[in-house]
Amino acid sequence: MGISARDIRQVLIERGDPGYEKARASMAANECASSRRPDVIVQAACVEEVREAVALARAHRMKVAVRAGEHGWGGAPLRDGGMLIDLSRLRACSVENGAATVQPGVSCQDLTRALAERDHAFPVAHRGSVALSGFVLGGGIGWNSRAWGPACASVEAIEAVTATGEIVRCSDHENPGLLWAARGGGPGFFAAVTSFRLRLRHLPPAIMTTRYVFPLADIEDVAYWTDEITAAVPANVELSVALTTADGGEGGQGGPPPKVVVVTATVFSCAWNDAIRCLEPLRECPFAGRALIRQVDQPTPFAVLFTGADALWPCGRRTAADSLWLNGGFSGVLPGIARHVEYAPSPESIVVAEPAPGGPAYAPVPEMAFSPLGRIRLSCYATWEDRSADGANLAWLRELAATAEPQAAGRYVAETDLSAEPQRARRSFTPSAWERFQDLRARYDPDGVFETYPQR
Ligand SMILES: Cc1cc2nc3c(=O)[nH]c(=O)nc-3n(C[C@H](O)[C@H](O)[C@H](O)COP(=O)(O)OP(=O)(O)OC[C@H]3O[C@@H](n4cnc5c(N)ncnc54)[C@H](O)[C@@H]3O)c2cc1C
Repeated sequence: MGISARDIRQVLIERGDPGYEKARASMAANECASSRRPDVIVQAACVEEVREAVALARAHRMKVAVRAGEHGWGGAPLRDGGMLIDLSRLRACSVENGAATVQPGVSCQDLTRALAERDHAFPVAHRGSVALSGFVLGGGIGWNSRAWGPACASVEAIEAVTATGEIVRCSDHENPGLLWAARGGGPGFFAAVTSFRLRLRHLPPAIMTTRYVFPLADIEDVAYWTDEITAAVPANVELSVALTTADGGEGGQGGPPPKVVVVTATVFSCAWNDAIRCLEPLRECPFAGRALIRQVDQPTPFAVLFTGADALWPCGRRTAADSLWLNGGFSGVLPGIARHVEYAPSPESIVVAEPAPGGPAYAPVPEMAFSPLGRIRLSCYATWEDRSADGANLAWLRELAATAEPQAAGRYVAETDLSAEPQRARRSFTPSAWERFQDLRARYDPDGVFETYPQR
């Protein structure tokens, strides 16, 4: 295509070049991520290369998509035509004065490890391999988010390359609109973020989990009980209810493994005796005798938390996700959802319901595009292996989400297929946040250099 990018030729691959297909395939972990093909992939290794790539795209009137990890559910960075700027090689991370400066390719696991050495923590994604970048930009509902808030609320500043090819710093004082949009704008964000400055927390020395596994048939009792304990536990207890297939250690004599409902409560505390006290409401389950598994007050450092999440979302699979904000309680929605889980075409599929992230308990919530639209988030993940089962699994996911739709106040922009319907991106924000986001896009990217939300 006649690109003459002397300075970035080493990191630029055009469609048709040897290595193009391999590079393209590595851009999304989801085996059924789109087959779309950008014209050019730039694997930038420094901020200057990102700036040059944007300038080059602009000069050639190419649209720019950006990626940092491989965990965007729908393969949003892969578009037909245009330039894909891959930021996964930008992996610097430094910690100073209770804040971390982190480049986009750093994974949540690597960040957690680096912070733990200094007794710090951050509300990272549940699975450690998720890149910090897309996670934070989408809002970031990570560990301990009822107390620490969504991850994007802890972004103090960013450095970004704008559509004009400028490298800008954004804080509450400089380019505050761009920072606001980066706090939760998701895959419609209109600049390439090259670093994030994150406000950190003290690493809670006592992280502990209590877990019950019940037969799925007990869903009504479990859902009512979870409504009760949600009100009874403090914000530093993260609660989730997962509807899934038993993993082998949970009953099922012969035959296929049974469907189960798993209630997990993880407390992040400053002391073990306080942690045990915070989990007290879970010790009183009135139907505990029906549990297939009951694990009480198990110490679970971050490394163990990540291992548990890895098992829920295995790598190298075909996946699809949808995530809805709901306004009722668990009891209003989970029994209906359970009927679908019973007949999931793939045993690896899972539905997780959890209370919405709270405002950070220890600091004011900043202005942000992120819009938690309901009291509960219902996340539905279809995971399967065989391409021939795509239709059945996608239909299952659609029907499942349709069951919850009457109670839905909107979608979580980072974990839904935005291309499924034209209004889905808009419905992931409050009306005023959506309007402000569009105004800022028009101001910072008037020529539409950066791709916007994926559309069918
Ligand atoms: C297994 C798994 C577990 C997950 N767990 C959680 C969880 O616990 N909590 C949660 O909230 N979400 C979770 N997610 C969702 C995840 O946060 C989003 O899918 C996120 O977008 C992934 O980020 P990424 O950088 O890996 O993806 P990418 O595909 O690289 O990025 C996704 C989109 O973000 C934008 N983007 C990324 N980086 C930049 C950048 N530097 N500058 C500009 N735009 C950028 C682009 O528009 C891109 O299309 C999970 C996803 C998976 C697959």
